[in-house]
Amino acid sequence: MTGNLLFDRLLAAGRPSGLAIETDTRRYAYADLDRESARLANALVGLGVRPGDRVAVQVEKSAVNLLLYLAAVRAGAVYLPLNTAYTLAELAYFIGDAEPALIVGDPVARAGVAGVAGIARVETLDAAGEGSLADLSSSQPDVFETRPRTEDDLAAICYTSGTTGRSKGAMLTHRALASNAATLVDLWRFTPADVLVHALPVYHVHGLFVATNVALMAGASMILQPKFEPGAVVAAMARATSLMGIPTFYTRLLAHPGLTREAVAGMRLFISGSAPLLAQTHHDWTERTGKPILERYGTTETGMNTSNPYDRERVAGTVGFPLPDVALRIVDEATGGDVPDGEIGVIEVKGPNVCAGYWRNPEKTAEAFRPDGYFITGDLGQRDARGYVSIVGRGKDLIITGGLNVYPKEVEAEIDALPGVVESAVIGLPHADFGEGVTAVVAVGAGSSANQLTESAVLEAIAPRLARFKQPKRVLFVTDLPRNAMGKVQKARLREDHRDLYR
Ligand code: AMP
Repeated sequence: MTGNLLFDRLLAAGRPSGLAIETDTRRYAYADLDRESARLANALVGLGVRPGDRVAVQVEKSAVNLLLYLAAVRAGAVYLPLNTAYTLAELAYFIGDAEPALIVGDPVARAGVAGVAGIARVETLDAAGEGSLADLSSSQPDVFETRPRTEDDLAAICYTSGTTGRSKGAMLTHRALASNAATLVDLWRFTPADVLVHALPVYHVHGLFVATNVALMAGASMILQPKFEPGAVVAAMARATSLMGIPTFYTRLLAHPGLTREAVAGMRLFISGSAPLLAQTHHDWTERTGKPILERYGTTETGMNTSNPYDRERVAGTVGFPLPDVALRIVDEATGGDVPDGEIGVIEVKGPNVCAGYWRNPEKTAEAFRPDGYFITGDLGQRDARGYVSIVGRGKDLIITGGLNVYPKEVEAEIDALPGVVESAVIGLPHADFGEGVTAVVAVGAGSSANQLTESAVLEAIAPRLARFKQPKRVLFVTDLPRNAMGKVQKARLREDHRDLYR
């Protein structure tokens, strides 16, 4: 025991000789995780990282990336994962806001990152786990005096966009991450005998704090895959017991001929989250494999909030019950009072899983919490008579495409800045593969410049400004956007008008 709450819990159950991570090229036992993360932690300290400092990481997924996460936690630093798709313009904002002491980026991006790094040090790590940081750590001792960290200390900051402007950094404490993973290990019955197919990105809560933390805390092992590839996942299932995925994983696996009852014979658990799993997908999966998917619901700010039960009915189209240590209520947005079962309201949660607020943003923090401590998720939900919760919509018009969040406002701002554009509305439309396809409806007015604007011109102009997953799949042109009597753009109507665009 080191007195570092999260680190102690993460490595408590794994036997030193037990397999923790397997990649195509290397196997790490739990003892290796301890040693290798010690080397990296020594390197971080050597680079001047002190407890409380932010370590921003924008690198390709690899086992070393996970070791770096552990190392940052051991050094008492605040781990700040960033989506690899973020452009330099986006990165510059995160760096300015979080003021990291160190940025770890991909070697090919080094010069660009250095240009926006300000006073932060820049080191590199590539998909193979090589780079200047790996070089530095290789000569370091494999023991490290892990820095003590307690419940309220920050372990990570994860950025989540707001509807009205820039991303906010959710401050995740040692308590929040440790308690949520412990609850899930218990609820989902993870043990050292489990082998998790890990095909999720590790810059997001799902792949990092659900998949990785749960597997490690259980002393289980992970088959770490660089990205989701249906054939590779099907092949890995022969040696695995569990899979965590976004709905897109399940629809793509269903389209793969290798998905058979035999292929999943050794699998005990399929979990889905990050976006709504269509009831149809749930049914198709059960029919094909005989194993109903367990759907759960969470957010960046709160970790996991609800889960379908392990040993009772997993109801398609629902996200199950509040976790044992999470209080959940569904309230009338206007009055703040609880709505009766069956009625729709805003989901609010309270518990050890909830973040400590937004980084250096007391205003947004105050807006996100009720006076009695409940966090306002912004999701609209309802609870049935048996207590199962369903998510029925997103109050904030958030688009979820391939499991990643896109906040329309950010895309609209880029399009609106283009010459010839009067205004734009960015919406999510049903898309068989991505769940929702980002779609821009652009008002160009009736003038002559209107005709010069083309779909490809808009897409080309915003490509250097926005991560690829945020870029619209289609751009549609109109003379005016529809508005309600209060002057608000009617996005619901746009979604209705174009609902079959991708079908
Ligand atoms: P993120 O902060 O990226 O984890 O996204 C959180 C949002 O994803 C939530 O506020 C929900 O809107 C959505 N979400 C997560 N899980 C589910 C689910 N199982 N069903 C529907 N929406 C979900």
